[in-house]
Amino acid sequence: MHEFSYRDGVLCCEGVALTDLAAEHGTPLYVYSAKTIRDHYRRLDEALSGLDHRVCFAMKANSNLAVLNLLAREGAGFDIVSGGELFRVLQSGGRADSCTFAGVGKTREEIEYALKEGVYSFNVESEPELEFINEVAGALGKKAPVALRVNPDVDAQTHKYISTGKSHNKFGIGIDRILGVYAQAAKLPHLQIRGIQTHIGSQILETTPFVEALGKLAPIVEELKKSYGIEFFSIGGGVGIVYHGTLESGAPDWWLRANGDGGKRIGFDDYARAVVPLLKPLGLKILLEPGRSLVGNAGALLASVLYVKKTPAKNFVITDAGMNDLIRPALYEGHHEIVPLQEPPAGAPHGPVDVVGPVCESGDFFAQDRELPEVQAGEKIALLSAGAYGFVMASNYNSRRLPAEILVDGGHSEVVRARQSWDDLVAGERVPGK
Ligand SMILES: *Cc1c(COP(=O)(O)O)cnc(C)c1O
Repeated sequence: MHEFSYRDGVLCCEGVALTDLAAEHGTPLYVYSAKTIRDHYRRLDEALSGLDHRVCFAMKANSNLAVLNLLAREGAGFDIVSGGELFRVLQSGGRADSCTFAGVGKTREEIEYALKEGVYSFNVESEPELEFINEVAGALGKKAPVALRVNPDVDAQTHKYISTGKSHNKFGIGIDRILGVYAQAAKLPHLQIRGIQTHIGSQILETTPFVEALGKLAPIVEELKKSYGIEFFSIGGGVGIVYHGTLESGAPDWWLRANGDGGKRIGFDDYARAVVPLLKPLGLKILLEPGRSLVGNAGALLASVLYVKKTPAKNFVITDAGMNDLIRPALYEGHHEIVPLQEPPAGAPHGPVDVVGPVCESGDFFAQDRELPEVQAGEKIALLSAGAYGFVMASNYNSRRLPAEILVDGGHSEVVRARQSWDDLVAGERVPGK
């Protein structure tokens, strides 16, 4: 599942000791395992080998150029949600014609850029957007390849902030209206209807919602193939990962038990077994847009313990990483396993603590009432499974510098994004008149 484990009492990523990385580069520090990302990509690709398919990495999950380059070399395309993401793809050595452009609010500038670079498809989320893309393409003397995002109205059984396929979500065009909107699209002269797309949500841990969505969409896809000769069906991303108890080896038993295990899990094999039989008969190119499932377990955020603050109500472990570095716990009630970089000896004392950051917000916590081995000021810890929706959501809130990012590959590690300097913090700002 990933390449983080204790070796000789030290937490390692592949062949590299994380204690060494923390000492050399400081904390907070993001570390990614190239092997884990490659393994995940290959396992998904292999599971779908019965289909004509392309995996378009949903790069909003992790858009570091090194990660994009690694996936581009594996043969991945990219699902992008902004002009900036297209720029990153091109900077990393990826190709525009392997990109699908998603998102409910594309601007003229972004549409022009994507048309000039030649993206594979605009995944369109509303009628006004369809008309606008037609107009922008016409002005450039181009035809825009489009697919409509259909909202199948299914319950993805996930956190409400990452559920996207219910009729009350802002995403896509309702399933009952979709054929009408295709008919409208067919009349617009500067569009080429290329496919259909859906995406029902994120961190989905069962196959049922996917099967339900595909079951509802299959007749529509058949109809579109007949009427408009569409070439692809993108089934989105959303396959969930395991966040609980992810340190399979080395960790004391009591501790993984105490931290629990979510129970539900879904593998690429389960996913493929469920969806391939529904997709194969369609005879189309199938696109997938996985984000989290490729990179989530491949990253960790390292932090240093600054203080251990004991109060009558609670004990707080205060770290130098905060919600501005990793916002998932605050935003989605996300869980990350927290482990010391130095393996605690068997029988080491432990107890419930809140692990919190230095940011001036009560929401700035990584764990509450979590059973953890006792740690002292100065010790280093890792927040596991932070490879997706981690660094990409980091901000400068509280004028904290964005952390550095490291890519480990075998015994080799490389800084793939330098830690921001204080000058970076104020770059572009000025005091009027000076
Ligand atoms: C976010 C997103 C994805 C990726 O979701 P994951 O849960 O990370 O796999 C795929 N497609 C679209 C349109 C998205 O917005």
